[in-house]
Amino acid sequence: MPRVLLVSTTTGYQTRAFGEAAARLGVELVFATDRCHQIDDPWRDGAVPIRFHDEAASVGAILEAARVRPIDGVLALGDRPTTIAARVASALGLPGNPLRAAEISRDKLATRRCLAATRMPVPWFRTFRLDVDPLAVASELTFPCVVKPLSLSGSRGVMRADDPAGFVEAFQRLRRLLLEKSVLAMRDPLNEVALVEGFVAGQEFALEGLVEDGHVRTLAVFDKPDPLDGPFFEETIYVTPSSLPFEREHALRQAVMQATAALGLRHGPVHAECRMDGDAVVVLEVAARPIGGLCARALRFRDGDGPLISLEELLLRHALGEPTGHLTREAAASAVMMIPIPARGVYRRVDGVDAAAAVPGIDEVTITAKPDQVLVPLPEGASYLGFIFARRETPAAAVDALRDAHAHLRFRVETKIDVDGG
Ligand code: ADP
Repeated sequence: MPRVLLVSTTTGYQTRAFGEAAARLGVELVFATDRCHQIDDPWRDGAVPIRFHDEAASVGAILEAARVRPIDGVLALGDRPTTIAARVASALGLPGNPLRAAEISRDKLATRRCLAATRMPVPWFRTFRLDVDPLAVASELTFPCVVKPLSLSGSRGVMRADDPAGFVEAFQRLRRLLLEKSVLAMRDPLNEVALVEGFVAGQEFALEGLVEDGHVRTLAVFDKPDPLDGPFFEETIYVTPSSLPFEREHALRQAVMQATAALGLRHGPVHAECRMDGDAVVVLEVAARPIGGLCARALRFRDGDGPLISLEELLLRHALGEPTGHLTREAAASAVMMIPIPARGVYRRVDGVDAAAAVPGIDEVTITAKPDQVLVPLPEGASYLGFIFARRETPAAAVDALRDAHAHLRFRVETKIDVDGG
């Protein structure tokens, strides 16, 4: 049985989906997980325990395990695991990304520098130590700007500021977040500075791709139909195919291809975020990993009239060196809503799930919040209430179905409780 190593931050929906795909394919999964942050071990998966802050020891532990159970392919799930995955692939002589490319792609400052060096359009950018006096540096900035951490994900800590007062507030808020215990526990030196950059106007898109020998094959281009203009940047809806005219979508694909080459990414899944203002494409980031968590369910592929194949199955096949170029996304338009957390509070329950699920075109409504869970919205939070998936003939109809379904959901969240420190 071929074996694929999954280097991941946690076990959750995504690893479970890989488990199901692996079972279908007759592939054995070997997990490498940072057990520090793991609450339980639902899989009893015999994962190799690793520590993201100690890459050498983590790679050593994985190579040791690979001597007993040889590994045929490597995948990283989440941003932090990408560098360890690159090191392991290289040590085992398996296809993967060069370490330096993985390092650059998960560091927003290094990404900006790299893309600027190849003359790709990037906003102006500067970094500041967290102990700087924001008021003292505010006069050196132009507005609007965006304040962000170098290595958190899911828009955590990303804030727009329109004037010096807004900048001071955003900077202090980011500093508080980066000094929170849970963030310090990541022991990521990238979290010791803040990045400040120009706000890029325009509509936002995501591209899910698969890199082979440095060439990006586009699996899907997603429109993000809700404006992302700040002050926080909560993603809500992704829909594919994109409604961009052919030439503009082509320009977007070209820009992602160019950015991927500039970063030096050579092999495996990529998830890119771009903004388009007129015809100009600004690539905000190219992450060396697939789309996160449950959102992958929005993507299904097939070979001609063959059965539907999940993204996880496609990625496992790719990791094992099988050809996947003949697999194309299904014909239906597909959309996902990441249900935003409206306010800080304690989640009690949700009503209306059945009515939401009965909306024509809705495939699935999954509530991931757990009763009594403390909900933290962006910019500090890192989760959603759940996900809604729709498939319809057109992207617009799929988005309408999501909005209709969302309107049926009534979340009971107690907001009056003081949850600080909870
Ligand atoms: P993350 O890796 O946490 O997703 P990003 O740097 O990609 O962080 O930023 C998250 C979101 O914030 C982006 O998808 C975009 O909507 C918005 N954003 C980030 N930087 C800028 C910018 N310079 N101009 C406009 N919007 C931005």
